[in-house]
Amino acid sequence: MNNLLDEITEPITKRVATGLSKIAMALRSHAWQEAGARGLTPTQGQILLFLRQQPDQSAMLSTISDALGISDPTGCEAVRVLEKKQLIRKVRSKTDARVVANILTPKGRKEADRTASWQDFLAEAVGSLTDTEQEALLRGLVKTIRALQEQGNIPISQMCVTCNFFRPNVHDDPERPHHCAYVDAPFGDKLLRVECAEYQPAAPEDRGPTWDAFLAGKY
Ligand code: SF4
Repeated sequence: MNNLLDEITEPITKRVATGLSKIAMALRSHAWQEAGARGLTPTQGQILLFLRQQPDQSAMLSTISDALGISDPTGCEAVRVLEKKQLIRKVRSKTDARVVANILTPKGRKEADRTASWQDFLAEAVGSLTDTEQEALLRGLVKTIRALQEQGNIPISQMCVTCNFFRPNVHDDPERPHHCAYVDAPFGDKLLRVECAEYQPAAPEDRGPTWDAFLAGKY
């Protein structure tokens, strides 16, 4: 039977969204503090981090803007400042001289390594959860991020579930049901990646079937 709390409490979806927005607020404030202390804006820090995660630590401006969900003028200005600070430099493609990419300099690599620790306070908080809770949270986040991507609210990120190399639930081992065709190895939910340097986007027509196969797992 319903009681007063049932009547006055917001739906769980709204309470979870409120909780996530509190975490986002903490991340933003931490990023501003850390970035400010190093003379960077959070966007400039994100660009360094993004380049750090790329296989050759370089990317074109349009790729950076798309990945971070920022406009080209915003990305252009941030890149200009990073170049002035000698944290990145421009390089021309060896195969097409018209293509110019931004690459981390040695100084930029060091700064990107320091920037990577901005989120350590959050990782530490997540560390207070049990292994099972962490795995469930990771899977829940993957599903939420994917739903936001489908809504068009955030760009496609380099996650396993949209990767060309991802083969979900192809093994009988319940601990390692998935397969990564890039490293040719089985893995379980606890190793799902939300940012992977080896990521290669799956063809749009393959994303739906891959997602259905992923959902057909244990949840
Ligand atoms: S290459 Fe990376 S993103 Fe793709 S399936 Fe393997 S681990 Fe996941």
